[in-house]
Amino acid sequence: MSLLREAERCLSNQKLYSTLNAFITPLQGSAPTLDCVRDADLRRDKGKPKSNADGRLISIKDNICTRDFSTTCASEILKEFSSPFNATVVEQLENAGAIVAGKTNLDEFGMGSHSVHSRFGPVRNLRRGRNGESLSAGGSSGGAAVAVASGQCYAALGTDTGGSVRLPAAYTGTVGFKPSYGLVSRWGVVAYSNSLDTVGVLGKDTCSVRDVFAILNQHDPRDPTSISPSSRSRILSHVNSPRLASRMTSSPLKVGVPVEYNISELSPSVRRAWHLSLAHLQSQGHIIHPVSLPATKLALSAYYILAPAEASSNLAKYDGVRYGTRAECLNGDDEVEKYLYAGTRGKGFGPEVERRILLGTFSLSAAAVDNYFIQAQRVRRLVQCDFDAIFKAEQPLSSHAALSSRREMGQGDVDVLVFPTVPFSPPQLSSLVNADSKTSPLDAYMNDVFTVPASLAGLPAISVPVTAPSDGQGSDDECLTGIQIVGQYGDDELVLKVGELLEGKKFI
Ligand code: GLN
Repeated sequence: MSLLREAERCLSNQKLYSTLNAFITPLQGSAPTLDCVRDADLRRDKGKPKSNADGRLISIKDNICTRDFSTTCASEILKEFSSPFNATVVEQLENAGAIVAGKTNLDEFGMGSHSVHSRFGPVRNLRRGRNGESLSAGGSSGGAAVAVASGQCYAALGTDTGGSVRLPAAYTGTVGFKPSYGLVSRWGVVAYSNSLDTVGVLGKDTCSVRDVFAILNQHDPRDPTSISPSSRSRILSHVNSPRLASRMTSSPLKVGVPVEYNISELSPSVRRAWHLSLAHLQSQGHIIHPVSLPATKLALSAYYILAPAEASSNLAKYDGVRYGTRAECLNGDDEVEKYLYAGTRGKGFGPEVERRILLGTFSLSAAAVDNYFIQAQRVRRLVQCDFDAIFKAEQPLSSHAALSSRREMGQGDVDVLVFPTVPFSPPQLSSLVNADSKTSPLDAYMNDVFTVPASLAGLPAISVPVTAPSDGQGSDDECLTGIQIVGQYGDDELVLKVGELLEGKKFI
């Protein structure tokens, strides 16, 4: 298909599916966009495209700064914010010829698992329940996932702090990839929890995701956590070393199955999809090997201490003076000084963000920091050690001391881990947004139980869609879910490769 036809189709789908609420700011006016696409078509015809994403429409999550579109983070407090600059990732995409397809909806500041905490209303999944009811699109990059699933863009940039690219990918039947922490620049990405925040890519297939990732996978001197060129070469020479290189070609892979992930809450159809995916890999000659990640049980609790703690600090700047829309009724008020901060923040943040700020401020307070924040940091380290102990590849950026102690303890022999992205099928939207519904915030946090461990350890992880027979009790005859592949730090290409082996498999 020509790039022009592809772009026209995306633009008409943006109109057709506007009720899904995937976009906060869709593309306005198609003429300039289509002119750019025509140029890209010409370049492609001459065999000189700028990149594999040249002339393609890529949507940007609305917590990533763009000069030509406002950046709201789906929050009242940033409803008037327009960034004077593009985030590095946006700049990189534009330099590669890609076109910003608009800004997608999300949970406010990326906090949530269902894309319902948005000032612009919830995102709706394109998939429907058996009786036609709206389903959760997952979050927080739900708008990005729905935009891809409904053909409103070619691919999408999201952010993944604890699963926000992978979870919506699993709920919408798309591919969602979170690269190793530090490979993709965070400059111009609005911080939620900066030691975890990672820009990720969503696409219909792994191939499109790989193409976009290739453009973003570069050092950025403006981001102090961006991996330096010398560390990048170290990672490359490590994965291309004779001991590891054959994993990409000839030798069978050793696929780890973490026993702790077989939790009783796992929905039967998701468990079936997991088993069938493993059986498929085995039938291809790969070796399935049970492994133990004992600290996993503590990972979710640690995440929900650390992420809110960082959020409470990152969001302190939205006070109506330095950043954020000042609460209107306060202008000219005698007591403006007294209530400026509280009024602005009270009106500007939604309930989920307020909850995180309160939780985070508490766990960082002098009385609680030892019992909560420090303990959670310890758990984070244990989670990292668990992963390091089972992978055949070493963490390529570990210190020499850490590497030699690992050698003394004996090395792991697993190449990748395979397990579900999320334990459940997407819940009905009405159960999440109705005031009288019985779901608590903790129910939403439970969705992240399988995604946060890789985030805490900064590892590359992908969710690919897989279909299995349903348990017969749910809404459908078949269950479309996400299977997750996690690799050692820097093993992004291997994770993408295994994703390709499983993506779109229908075991029915
Ligand atoms: N659901 C998780 C949270 O609310 C993850 C969010 C994310 O990855 N941005 O923190």
